[in-house]
Amino acid sequence: MALPLPTSLSPSKVSAFKDCALAFRFSAIDKIPEPPSMPATRGTTVHRALELLFVEAPADRTPQRAQECLRTALEEMSTHEEYVGLELDDAAAADFAATSARMVDRYFTLEDPQSITPIGLELFLTAQLGSLTVRGIIDRLELDQDGELVVTDYKTGRAPSPAQEQSRLGGVHFYSLLCERVLGRIPSRVQLIYLGDQPQVITTVPSEQSTRGVARKLDAIWSAVERACDKEDFRPRRSALCNWCNFKAFCPAFGGDPSQAASLSIRPGPQRALDLAAVDAG
Ligand code: SF4
Repeated sequence: MALPLPTSLSPSKVSAFKDCALAFRFSAIDKIPEPPSMPATRGTTVHRALELLFVEAPADRTPQRAQECLRTALEEMSTHEEYVGLELDDAAAADFAATSARMVDRYFTLEDPQSITPIGLELFLTAQLGSLTVRGIIDRLELDQDGELVVTDYKTGRAPSPAQEQSRLGGVHFYSLLCERVLGRIPSRVQLIYLGDQPQVITTVPSEQSTRGVARKLDAIWSAVERACDKEDFRPRRSALCNWCNFKAFCPAFGGDPSQAASLSIRPGPQRALDLAAVDAG
């Protein structure tokens, strides 16, 4: 009995499948709820603060205004289930706000927002590649001085080591592909702005060749996902990421039983309906 295919692939889902097919299945197919994480929630908050900053007129994009935007973002997040679910006490909430404020401050060491001409913020794009729907959110799309597109992706996690840089850049070509399919041209530059302890900007210049390359890779990954769904064969792949995996208790690589995760699944779908029909018939 085949598993249902995910409805689409995003850059994070592609990475998740490559990192560990079983964790991908638990998350993207079985949709087992995961607890909110501090880094992800902080990332949401800092992204929102920078989005608000770029709504301002260029001359008003100052460090002081950015901190006001962060306070607005924190206020919005205070009732959001992702933040509420962290159950922070006063000290932890103050630390969350202070760490976010440092990231927003670091942003100004990397570029001058007054010189940026954004044409899209938190832009949701989807495109069709054969039977695969790809989707992604571009944090900031702008025009450079020559009128060419530039894609910016903010990162609030740790910056990659030189050895990891190329694999991180592999993901950014995904955005180039989305621009080509949806906007009709590839960007002249895609940049990752790291706002963590070692702030830095990593830039790549996509080409038609690199964009075609990512389309081919996505096609291959989609075929692998289709095969895995068809055979219900998603294998665990141990790595350092297991230390943060929410599904470790169900993982056979750590003595767990994946079938026990089934009761937590919130996946609607024909397979469950069929299972229920079989029970009724019995
Ligand atoms: S614990 Fe590791 S191997 Fe197991 S599902 Fe999670 S990431 Fe995969």
